[in-house]
This record gives sequence, C-alpha cells and structure tokens, in this order.
Amino acid sequence: MPSVFTLNKLFKSFCESYRETNGPVLDKKGKEKSPISWGKFHDYWSKQYSCIKVLKKKTDFCEYCCKEQEKLKNSSSNEEEREIIQANLDMHLKEAKDARAAYTDHRRITALEDGKIVISMDYAECLMIPQLQNTPSTFYFKTRRKIDIFGISNERETENGSIQLNFLIDECFKIKKGPNTVITMLDYYIHNYIQEGKHLILYADNCPAHNKNQFLIGYLTFMVKIKKFLASAELYFLIVGHTKFTPDSHFGTLKKEFKKNNCFSIKDLLGKNGIVESSAVNNKVIPYKDPESGLQNFQWRNWKNFLEKRFRNCPGISSWHVIKIHQDGSTIQVSPSINKPLEDFTIFNKDFINDSLEEPEVLIPEGLSLQREMELQYFEQFVEDNHKKYVSTTY
Ligand SMILES: [Zn+2]
Repeated sequence: MPSVFTLNKLFKSFCESYRETNGPVLDKKGKEKSPISWGKFHDYWSKQYSCIKVLKKKTDFCEYCCKEQEKLKNSSSNEEEREIIQANLDMHLKEAKDARAAYTDHRRITALEDGKIVISMDYAECLMIPQLQNTPSTFYFKTRRKIDIFGISNERETENGSIQLNFLIDECFKIKKGPNTVITMLDYYIHNYIQEGKHLILYADNCPAHNKNQFLIGYLTFMVKIKKFLASAELYFLIVGHTKFTPDSHFGTLKKEFKKNNCFSIKDLLGKNGIVESSAVNNKVIPYKDPESGLQNFQWRNWKNFLEKRFRNCPGISSWHVIKIHQDGSTIQVSPSINKPLEDFTIFNKDFINDSLEEPEVLIPEGLSLQREMELQYFEQFVEDNHKKYVSTTY
C-alpha cells in the first residue's frame, strides 16, 4: 500500500464506510461509537493481512519500476502486451537483484582478502551555508553559499563500520563538476589511502557526466596498465533506480548532524569537533583548502584532456555494467551485466604514446565573481565575526 495509507487511516475509512452503509453504531448511553475498537481492528488486521505492508515514506523508487507497474495496473492492453511488460520488468528486477548481490559479496570479500580493496563513491546534494537553527525567511529568496560534497567509502567493515572520506569543495574553489573533479578526488584517495599493488573494486552510480564515461575507465586503465600502481581494477555500476549504496548512508548521517546545528561557514564543518566528523566516527572530512591553516590539500587536474589523448572513446558504454582491467595487454573486459560473459574492448588509442612521466595540467578555480561576493555579503550579518570572511570571499 502507498505510504499515505497508514493503518490508522485505513481504520478511520473503514469506520466511515461502515457508517455509510449500516448507519451509526451507538453505545448503551446512546452515544455514537466506532463499529469495532482500534485494538480489535489492529489484531484482526495483523493476523489476517500480515503480508500487506505499508511502504515507508522517503524510500527512493525506481522510475522504470514505477512506470511499468503503473502500466500493468491501468493497462487496457491485451494479455500479450501485459506479458511483455511483465517479462521486461522481471528481467530488470533480476538484474537489479543480481547486481545488489554482487555488491554485497564484494563488501564481504574486502574483509577476508587483503589484496583487494572495495570502494564506492558518489556526490551528495550540496550543503548551503550559513545554516541556522532559526532560518530567517529572507534566506529562501537568496542563494546561499554552496559547498559540494563528494564521498569515497572504503567498504571494509572496521569496528566502526565502513569509513568514508568526505571531500568538501567550497563554492570559491569549484570547477565544473565532471570527470576532472571526480578523477582528481579519486586519484587523491588512491594515492593516500590505498597501498600500491592492490586489486581495486570500485562502485559508482550511472551518471554519465560524472562517472559513467570513457575518462573514468581511461583513468583506471592508466593506473593499472601504465603506472602499474594497481594490480587490477574492476568498475561496477549498479542498476539505474536501484543504486542505494554505502555513500548514501554516510551522507544521511552527516546531513542529519548538519541540520541539528548552526553552521556559519565551512569552518564549522571541519576538524575533529566539526559537524562532519562529529556526525559519526566513520565520517572523515577533507576540504580542498583548509581555511585555518591555508593548506591546499589537492589540485584540480585536467584529466579529461590527459586521458583523451591516450584512450579510446567507448561507444556502447551506456550499456556496460561491469568493466575489468588487468595489467597485461591493450584490452579491457566489459559486460552489460554481472550475469553475461565479458568481451574484450581495445582501450588504447591508435597512436598511444606511453609517457608515464607526463602529468595532467593543473586547473585553477576562478573564484567568486565580484557580483557573487556582493550577494554573499548579505549573509555576513547572521554569522559570528570570525566566519564572515568565509561566508563572502575567496580565501
Ligand atoms: Zn527498477
């Protein structure tokens, strides 16, 4: 049943429809009462209809599943059409289930086999600051300062669960979100958190602009076949609409803490006592640039340009769900599904130059425009003095 239909609502509508058909039920004193007590209704319902579940609110639904199920319900179509719809839907659900099962297995592997490391990565919805417990209504008519979050989770279960590193990109240090940002942060993670010689298993969502593109595949190929930093790499994309994975739960904890507190500027999010790390012991944080020390943790790099020169475009990539890269040879193995056989795909460009010393060029963020700085100055009046600079300027 849909989430709006709670058992209580069902009870009320049962009482109403009983009254309409049979007239009001009166007690000994002549006062109207419900035809059955809530307790009895509840007991009866749980005994007779325990298989009917009320959907929880806020669950993410798959667009494809919703549409097809709706078609089946409303369909005036013939039996044959309905069978086709049902068969496609079953296939889609099986794919999603199998991909999920493989993900669960991979997460288990990482605890047992030392040579393998399983990570998953994703962007969260950006944070808007200042975030105040008493938000002035004027805030809704202005655009607050945006802080992008990108999380990379190590799926290995420690005593504190899986650990996620959350990259925070303050608005003034942004470049266009895409392969250059994703690969820069992944590259930072691999060099700082993964030992050389590991077998990497990476999970990402299907977004073509961020992850599902020739560049991420090219980057992993570069790290395996050229740099030989990784012994091998496997890249998995969960099935569209069924992509809930570890980063989402870390983002959830982080955002819950964020909403509970005042957050004047990025400073409140950072450090041991900052919002991100106090949200959970397994949420770690790293900013592009630390506002206190001035230390810049990493530099954006033009990976797109760098990889384009070396690796081929990947036609058909939209249907790939499994990609495996080994150190030998010039091909990678790809498959549209976890259950289907892998096929070879030549990844190197024809005129590939093996120059492993060259590095991708550094990209410098443009910083806030004068106009944007002026807009942001409005918010200064709501924050403590030592935060003002981080609310309205490029620091
Ligand atoms: Zn679905």
